[in-house]
Amino acid sequence: DSAPTLLEVNDLHARYGDARVLHGVSLRVAEGEVVVLLGANGAGKSTLLKALSGLVDRSGGVTFDGADISGEPSARIVRRGLVLVPEGRGTFADLTVEENLRLGAYPTAATRSEVAASSDEIMTMFPILGERSTQRAGLLSGGEQQMLAIGRALMARPRMLLLDEPSLGLAPAVTKSVFETLRTLHEERGLSLLIVEQNAELSLGIADYAYVIEAGLIRVDGPARSIRDNEGLRRAYLGY
Ligand code: ATP
Repeated sequence: DSAPTLLEVNDLHARYGDARVLHGVSLRVAEGEVVVLLGANGAGKSTLLKALSGLVDRSGGVTFDGADISGEPSARIVRRGLVLVPEGRGTFADLTVEENLRLGAYPTAATRSEVAASSDEIMTMFPILGERSTQRAGLLSGGEQQMLAIGRALMARPRMLLLDEPSLGLAPAVTKSVFETLRTLHEERGLSLLIVEQNAELSLGIADYAYVIEAGLIRVDGPARSIRDNEGLRRAYLGY
């Protein structure tokens, strides 16, 4: 793969107080690539995404678009175009759909009219968000809330999204449409994606490359297709 590297992680460690969770993770996401990070509950997947976003105590090398972001605060990382869609969506139930969207632009330097233009664009992209723009987010279905969480992340005009279990709690058909949305964002806007997923089969289907994390360390990595086709590896690490 000759595409330039967008995100490079080198020997990353992370902890919550005395609890060490990542023990030296290294990985790479090329420009325009879709990478999936698989692994069991508690392996450290969410912690890795939070560490990349500046939301947990971390040490080690992280470069994004050639810049060292390993010590930067989260808002600065968002401004660089690396944006997290958190596990459980992180939408605010009592705010309207449109208010939730606008929050996504908060860390950026966007003007009021730029924010309005972005939010119009996203409501065109996700018509359901446009139809429900003045409703409380808490009234949306799980799939709609996931779309809102993705839309809110897009408000920061990212180059790369970090998605933490976008399928969590969603019915299979809804999960499928969330993944179709992700594929479209990748294909039409060239967005790079790093996706954490329990649904290995589905996520390997849209990914170029995959990493498997176990107890805070990368155990396996390779082209998504080769991992999908390796039955022994699937059984050992992915449970299907
Ligand atoms: P899951 O799919 O369950 O979210 P995960 O692979 O994302 O799994 P993490 O959420 O990163 O795993 O958790 C990794 C380890 O860190 C677990 O042992 C977990 O108990 C611990 N951990 C997570 N959050 C905290 C926290 N806020 N304080 C202390 N320990 C934590």
